[in-house]
Amino acid sequence: MNADEERQNRFVVDSMLGKLARWLRVLGCDARSISLENPGVLTALMNEGCTPVTRREKFREVEGVVFIRSDHPFEQLMELIDLVNLRREEVRLFSRCTLCNVALDQISGEAAFGFVPDYVFETVSDFRKCPECGRVYWPGSHRRKMIEQLESLTGWSLHKGDEGGAE
Ligand SMILES: [Zn+2]
Repeated sequence: MNADEERQNRFVVDSMLGKLARWLRVLGCDARSISLENPGVLTALMNEGCTPVTRREKFREVEGVVFIRSDHPFEQLMELIDLVNLRREEVRLFSRCTLCNVALDQISGEAAFGFVPDYVFETVSDFRKCPECGRVYWPGSHRRKMIEQLESLTGWSLHKGDEGGAE
């Protein structure tokens, strides 16, 4: 692994680990979801500077692969955080579409009108939209619950600064 400050967290998460990929995107990590069945694909991705994440036994000993043991998404997330030494400062909560893995655009309340429930439009001012699928994200109860889950899991304090939540 490179020096921490130069590191870009570009993960390629095996398609069998879909929930883990989504949680990584919640944290703002670049987490593409691809089947890593083929060793050639794995090697090509590593040559691009990506970090493969998989549970496939055949890649357990491969240098540079993040090998996940657990079959529970939260435990998988903790394994990954420990293995790559992901730090709180690297987290960009709710900056990415959890489905498409692309960075969200900040949009105005007017632009969100019609895409969110009326009560949200009236009470929220922070909207983000996925340029890929058009999904609109805003801070809400669902997001708060995810923050609480992540905080109890990681021990990080995540409420300050970037609040969020995918609805
Ligand atoms: Zn999207």
